[in-house]
Amino acid sequence: MPVIKTFSPEETAGVGEKLAALLRPGDVICLNGDLGAGKTRLAQGVARGLGIEGPVTSPTFTLINEYQGGLTLYHIDVYRLDSPAEMEDLGCAEYFYGEGVTLVEWADKVKDLLPGERLDIYIKRSPEGEDVREIIAVPRGERYRYLAEELTKVVRAGD
Ligand code: ADP
Ligand code: MG
Repeated sequence: MPVIKTFSPEETAGVGEKLAALLRPGDVICLNGDLGAGKTRLAQGVARGLGIEGPVTSPTFTLINEYQGGLTLYHIDVYRLDSPAEMEDLGCAEYFYGEGVTLVEWADKVKDLLPGERLDIYIKRSPEGEDVREIIAVPRGERYRYLAEELTKVVRAGD
């Protein structure tokens, strides 16, 4: 998959905003990367793109934040979960297979609970500079192959 490089937090949010324009009810987007990689920045961009106003923060302690925009957004952060069982207790299936868009930070921690079809986004710091990030979108399933391709196209077009 092609790498999307960003050079500022705003640019990463911009990738999220472009992604939002492509989203449909039921889409699941998984965000992976170290602490401070930019998962929440990207999520904030998605929220903005969905027309959600007001602050969007990492649901590190609340685990799930729900927002109402053009689509319902479930923003989940499983960083503090001790076990996938806890995630199941939260009724995650309801989010994953519902009509909203679900974003999951640290999704790889609950891999076995994720739907087979989803977009896995990996964000990592680049050795090129403090504010440089490399974003890779790995699609799982036909719908997400399309999504990843379209995202790459619109991001490229904006360069
Ligand atoms: P995470 O949710 O992955 O822990 P955050 O999005 O909360 O990360 O934080 C990312 C941090 O990195 C912020 O402080 C942001 O300002 C900074 N940053 C610097 N450059 C970038 C970039 N290109 N993309 C995203 N964040 C960046
Ligand atoms: Mg975060």
